[in-house]
Amino acid sequence: MNKGKHIEFRDLNKQYLMLREPIQESISRVMERGDFIMGEEVLKLEYQLSEYVGVKNCITCANGTDALNLILMAWGITKGDLVFIPNFTFFATAEVVALQGATPVMIDIDQDTFNMDPIKLENAIQRSIQVNQLKPKAIITVDLFGLPANYRAIEAIAKKYGLYLLEDGAQGFGGKIGERKACSFGDAATTSFFPAKPLGCYGDGGAIFTNDDHLMEMIKSLRVHGKGKDKYDNVKIGLNSRLDTLQAAILIEKLKAFQDYELEAVNQVAKWYSERLQHSVKVPSIPQEYYSSWAQYSIQLESKEQRAHLIAALSQEGIPTQIYYPKPMHMQTAFKNLGYKQGDFEITEKVCEVILSLPMHPYLNEETVDFISQKINLIK
Ligand SMILES: *Cc1c(COP(=O)(O)O)cnc(C)c1O
Repeated sequence: MNKGKHIEFRDLNKQYLMLREPIQESISRVMERGDFIMGEEVLKLEYQLSEYVGVKNCITCANGTDALNLILMAWGITKGDLVFIPNFTFFATAEVVALQGATPVMIDIDQDTFNMDPIKLENAIQRSIQVNQLKPKAIITVDLFGLPANYRAIEAIAKKYGLYLLEDGAQGFGGKIGERKACSFGDAATTSFFPAKPLGCYGDGGAIFTNDDHLMEMIKSLRVHGKGKDKYDNVKIGLNSRLDTLQAAILIEKLKAFQDYELEAVNQVAKWYSERLQHSVKVPSIPQEYYSSWAQYSIQLESKEQRAHLIAALSQEGIPTQIYYPKPMHMQTAFKNLGYKQGDFEITEKVCEVILSLPMHPYLNEETVDFISQKINLIK
């Protein structure tokens, strides 16, 4: 059935072919006007994104990593501060904390949702208060693989201990808890428009969301060299971190498709997978009231060996897979000075050994999901 047909892990080309005309027209308009930096589509996109998410302010920037950096800079996070982050994430979540001179505190995850475990978070906060050396300042949650973190619990913890809460929604855009959309939780939130994210552009891009007007003004200055009245009046040390007008023009078209059918389609694909795979492997679990934007569809195998065997066998069938993520933050060489060791994080370490992400995108059809699932059920 799929003989000779190539299966993409995330099919960006298919999406482009669907949206080619509006995207090309959108690009042409920018080329003809020539307002490549902070042109009219940038403001238009920021408005549309803030409306979609349901947050007062949206500020775009150069990428999802800068989005995190800009918020930490605006909050004055620095040497001597502790920032609590999930141990199972993409490196950027931890990296930005260290880049600002602060110390990341890794927190173990929940094995069902892959997101930060609130009980372990509170334990770590209490321990750091007892040790009383570095100052607990902020929590960064991650909406891993498209599923919002446990905000009901974590927002309460942030409030109880007087900590800033930053939602890293790089993978979470489009997710929901009840009627509250991803990128609306905490004091501020970020997302990334890296091409493979749920809402991606054709290069790098990112955005910040907040209801805090003061924070928004700070970040507008920080993203253009800490500008005061203009960019030749510099009142603080900032970055050069703007979203290109061309990328904004592309994103306006992609956001339409995302809202109109892509988000629904990718949820349908997840349903097809889970129906077919639930009796043979551990499939992702979505808690009641939660809605995922499915940045990844990740199954869990019984062992590292079983996973290796499955990857090889699927590859033989032309089915690509990915391991997100092979290594927890506490085992990264860049963090060896923090003094963590193997065995410190039971769940994260286990998940790194058994997790496997399958081809996932809104343009995957039922026949292909059937083919992939049959192979997995057979091989496994
Ligand atoms: C992709 C990603 C980032 C960084 O986004 P970029 O746009 O690539 O800089 C940050 N956090 C998480 C969880 C991510 O997945």
